[in-house]
Amino acid sequence: MNIAAMNLPRPRLPLAPVLSRDSLRAGSVARPPSVLDAGQVRLVTSGRIAIALALERMGVGAGDEVLLPAYHSPSMVPPVLWRQATPRFYRLRADTSVDLDDITRRATPATRVLVVTHYFGFPQAMAALRAWCDARGIFLLEDCAHAFFGAVDGRPLGTWGDYAIASSMKFFPVHEGGCLVSARHRLDGVTLRGAGPGFEAKALLAVLETSFRHGRLALLGRLLRPVLRLRDLAWGALKRRRAAAPQAQAQALAPASSDSGFEFEPRWLDKRSAWFSRLLVRSLPRAAIGARRRRHYQALEQMVRGLPGCRPLYPTLPEGVYPWQFPLLCDDPEALFMRLQQAGVPLVRFAWQRWPAMDAGTCEASSMLARSVLALPCHQELRADELEWIGVQLRQALSMGAEAS
Ligand SMILES: *Cc1c(COP(=O)(O)O)cnc(C)c1O
Repeated sequence: MNIAAMNLPRPRLPLAPVLSRDSLRAGSVARPPSVLDAGQVRLVTSGRIAIALALERMGVGAGDEVLLPAYHSPSMVPPVLWRQATPRFYRLRADTSVDLDDITRRATPATRVLVVTHYFGFPQAMAALRAWCDARGIFLLEDCAHAFFGAVDGRPLGTWGDYAIASSMKFFPVHEGGCLVSARHRLDGVTLRGAGPGFEAKALLAVLETSFRHGRLALLGRLLRPVLRLRDLAWGALKRRRAAAPQAQAQALAPASSDSGFEFEPRWLDKRSAWFSRLLVRSLPRAAIGARRRRHYQALEQMVRGLPGCRPLYPTLPEGVYPWQFPLLCDDPEALFMRLQQAGVPLVRFAWQRWPAMDAGTCEASSMLARSVLALPCHQELRADELEWIGVQLRQALSMGAEAS
């Protein structure tokens, strides 16, 4: 969504993690399980590219059907179409759990894959879903886009599926990145190559710039200002040259991903994630990331307690859950969304846009969730004053609502 075009203020704090000195601070708690430890791993440029590669590994092709949740990111669908397979959407319950009766009704002899998403980092009941797939000879693709860390029933997320995918940008201060993981199959056939020096430079500078913009790494920001200026000049020259040569197709220096849209670009299928992204994903302290996300989630939970017109989507934060965002179920989501956006509070409305060809009546619960859930940031890089500020904005926005009614 183009915020500037809507005349809204710039978000006052980062929606997703940004690099700071705190990013490097290790925690004293135990490292949470991560999809990176779930099996063989390939670091690609986005979660959707990882989905496409997983489908390819599973031999999905024309005539096959793939079961996808009705509550989804539209970026999950183009990889299925790229394989020339047919997406079939299944129902969830209002608590975001998979409706087993519904997938049983929808499975046909052509069904090859069940895609299961751990929404906001809260795991699905994987033992039952694994058994369901095994009984039918259907592949399980575990979508850990919201769950880079965690375990359920004593087993790490990412180990339940035949393949698992994750989206690095949702958990790390990186410009691009996705993971393809398998605990059950070899990934030797997935060979990747670098996307070139322009991409590598962009992946590095974009992270630093985002960080400076949010007032992090300020000293480094001052030192690097001339470098960024040079980069802008070079970039401007490159653009002019491209404009002068219309036959040269302008190609973006980075793949489409969560913050740029829902497109799927097959030319990124064989590209490795940038060096800087891989460095951060591999080496930032996972224990601290996990612990801070849980602490921030709990702080938001405290702030929301007792407020009128909204409640957490999940009643508790169980052990072993490392949330992506804090999903808030709202009675009047439209008004609250407008007010919070006006105040500069960054929000995610997951599945606000869904695959247009899906029958809107497929799943009441999914439609309700897409409409009523506003997800607040709880990532590791929020500062105490920023969390407090979110609480103040939320109370104000809700009291405006109470006055208006
Ligand atoms: C973001 C997301 C993806 C895709 O990840 P990208 O890195 O944006 O390609 C897949 N599934 C879900 C549930 C997501 O939210």
